[in-house]
Amino acid sequence: MSGKLTFTMIKPDAVANGNTGKIIDHIIGKGFKMVAMKYTRLSAEKAGEFYAVHRERPFFKDLVDFMISGPIVAAVLEKDNAVSDFRDVIGATDPSKAEAGTIRNLYAKSIDANAIHGSDSDENAAIEASFFFNAFERF
Ligand code: GDP
Repeated sequence: MSGKLTFTMIKPDAVANGNTGKIIDHIIGKGFKMVAMKYTRLSAEKAGEFYAVHRERPFFKDLVDFMISGPIVAAVLEKDNAVSDFRDVIGATDPSKAEAGTIRNLYAKSIDANAIHGSDSDENAAIEASFFFNAFERF
């Protein structure tokens, strides 16, 4: 059975553009409960660790530079089938391919500045939530 929790970050572009409130409202409107939330800023080391899976990709440096360019909002979300349902809510990685009405379609400008992160598996949701929140170290 799919888990009830997923992890998200509102990325620096969306925070800087003043879209944090609208995005949180959108997420809650889709039936997710915010069980933890934090306004913070990543160090280059932390951003590199978070995206370690992409370390060998050509866009890795741009990704890290972008993720440390300003504050973010990290959150843990609860809902049945949370990971998959939230991926539907955020839309495709490239906003030009994101379905109408998705968060990336509404608020993202480009594949690197794409407004929001959503975990891609229950396993990664657990790892990512515990990366930001001590309370989720054992969930
Ligand atoms: P996600 O799960 O939809 O966020 O996508 P991925 O896990 O594949 O990639 C992580 C993040 O890396 C994406 O959200 C983008 O910000 C960035 N990214 C992915 N592909 C590219 C790319 O081709 N170019 C650039 N500049 N950034 C990318």
